[in-house]
Amino acid sequence: MARPQRLWSFRPLALARYAQAAIVLVAFSASAQAADYSGPLFDAHLHYNEEAFGPPQAANTGPHPLSDVLARMQRNGVRAIIANSRPNDGSQALAASPQTRAAGVTVVPFIRLYRNRADYDSWFRDETIYEMVQAEFARGVTGAQAGPYKGIGEFHLYDSANANGPVAKKLMQFAEKNKLAVLSHVDDVAIDLLMAHAPKVRLIWAHTGIGGAPASRVDALFARYPTLMGELSYRPGLTCDGGKLCADWRALLLKYPDRFMIGSDTWVNQRWQYYDELMKGYRVWLGDLPPDVARKIGWDNGAGLFGVK
Ligand SMILES: [Zn+2]
Repeated sequence: MARPQRLWSFRPLALARYAQAAIVLVAFSASAQAADYSGPLFDAHLHYNEEAFGPPQAANTGPHPLSDVLARMQRNGVRAIIANSRPNDGSQALAASPQTRAAGVTVVPFIRLYRNRADYDSWFRDETIYEMVQAEFARGVTGAQAGPYKGIGEFHLYDSANANGPVAKKLMQFAEKNKLAVLSHVDDVAIDLLMAHAPKVRLIWAHTGIGGAPASRVDALFARYPTLMGELSYRPGLTCDGGKLCADWRALLLKYPDRFMIGSDTWVNQRWQYYDELMKGYRVWLGDLPPDVARKIGWDNGAGLFGVK
């Protein structure tokens, strides 16, 4: 099944903008360095997909084996991650490996709803996805960081009406019942629809509205749903000159200091290649906030949510 055009159209643009921002950051680094946030980071949106890790039949033979991705996390002060990988083998491997613990990284595993790319477009009405989630939840993760899954997602809804798909509804209710967080890449309309299925669920809004819902709309949704949180990768309008926060977003982060998290969204291998720059970019704008707020958004909010020490 063809992928919606919309997904592919914004990504290269975002990467191009990011590349420009990285150049600006280098130019400003001398003056910005002193104020950058230097505490631990919780990466709340990490994929370790088969393009990076290798396919299930040849695990750890891809361009970014475990040793590579763990070194990237370690040198950037990333001490915990929400791992959600297509297929789930990548998250399982991160949790299982003694190398991950040795690198000082705690894995918070989420069940990805996708076995392959075709699942992006039909998961919300596909009973076999629901069955896969049940089986994966029953299995949990094994090895060095064995334990239960802590969430489901990331999932995408390119048409917000599909939030009312039968499997979308069942999965929201499954998450609420089992106290699983949900990582969703959706628009603001879908937030209302998803929360109607499971009003107490902990919903993490991937990118906090990648389509560009204005800060005022995000404010209204945060006020309406106390369990809604925002992850800030690819968020349009977040940063302005010199990689610092734009005024409306700075005000929103200060209004809800306990509700936001940062993430890498390593959805393609280029994001792994830019992992250092991504994390440096976060440290620049986090440094623009009062130190206690920077620490909450950089680390405490994610760590507190999942009991990471
Ligand atoms: Zn993602």
